[in-house]
Amino acid sequence: MVDLQTQYQHIKREIDAGIQEVIDTAAFVKGQKVTDFQHHLEQYTGAKHVIPVGNGTDALQIALMGLGLQRGDEVITPTFTFIATAEVVALLGLTPVVVDVDWETMNMDIEAVRKAITPRTKAIVPVHLFGQCADMEPLMQLAQAHHLYVVEDACQAIGAKYTFSNGETKQAGTIGHIGCTSFFPSKNLGCYGDGGAIFTNDDALAERMRAIANHGMVVRYHHDMIGVNSRLDSIQAAVLDAKLPHLDEYIAARQRAAAYYDKAFSGNPHLLIPGRQAGSTHVFHQYTLRVIKANRDLVRKKLAEHGIPAMIYYPVPLHQQKAYLDPRYKDGDFPVAERLAECVLSLPMHTELDEEQLSYITSTINNILE
Ligand SMILES: *Cc1c(COP(=O)(O)O)cnc(C)c1O
Repeated sequence: MVDLQTQYQHIKREIDAGIQEVIDTAAFVKGQKVTDFQHHLEQYTGAKHVIPVGNGTDALQIALMGLGLQRGDEVITPTFTFIATAEVVALLGLTPVVVDVDWETMNMDIEAVRKAITPRTKAIVPVHLFGQCADMEPLMQLAQAHHLYVVEDACQAIGAKYTFSNGETKQAGTIGHIGCTSFFPSKNLGCYGDGGAIFTNDDALAERMRAIANHGMVVRYHHDMIGVNSRLDSIQAAVLDAKLPHLDEYIAARQRAAAYYDKAFSGNPHLLIPGRQAGSTHVFHQYTLRVIKANRDLVRKKLAEHGIPAMIYYPVPLHQQKAYLDPRYKDGDFPVAERLAECVLSLPMHTELDEEQLSYITSTINNILE
């Protein structure tokens, strides 16, 4: 699905030098590399504040803690996503309210969000799934009208851009009040372990979240709020600082692979290529097909027999997950998400896919699904 070894070989010298520098200076925690990367990421994203943290899940948790929500407050999130989005909501004693997604973009359905808003709703967590932004213009308008916070889960979408109807363009993660991203190795900007970051343009929120990530500490050993311990370590920051200058070329490589897939599959009656969100670019964390009028699991099995990995992101929507079963929801309540869970198939997608591999993958799939 990914080829991190080949990618490393191309930038080995930069990566090795960065890691060696951390070891030589022994500044393993809160070292200069972390500050450097933070500033470079602020420049890249246009976010006023970047707060490096331990991983993307922590980023989401600290973001919600930073908003000062109360037990029982409702947070709206899509039911078709990775579990982390709802997990942190539940862990904090907040109430996850899930909504259905759009069949084409697989992102949060904004009309469904509108219907899910109650007097207890405090925040919306859109997920920019697979690498393209949710429909942020109507979502931000809706949030503003109801005085709701928007926390973007941009873990899969770093570098994606969204252009508003007034011509203004913003990066994924810098549109809402807070944005969260992950540097898990297979993410579009991945480190060699765990890492994450929070984005915000709000000075007060930034200060609060920075303190929460550091045991709620503002002045050393004086704890003003209950916090957590969540840090990006210096070795990961060194890897990320070496990779960040390559992010745009990495995105372009993914987009080229996606264009190849699009062209090869658009004539196949059993496959629907990923629908695109108007206004957003797509950075293709995943290239996810919908298999229709054919057995998706059989296709996956046959692909495996030909040495082609394919993954199902995600096989079970949140409202059908055992830990999240809730009497408010029953099977059939979110028909689009349930249908997607049955038909999605993600293909190999990374920066090192070459023409020969793409040709083999696409012709094999088209042969299986004639
Ligand atoms: C990867 C991911 C996360 C969590 O990131 P970690 O760094 O693994 O904690 C959260 N949300 C989404 C949508 C993700 O893809």
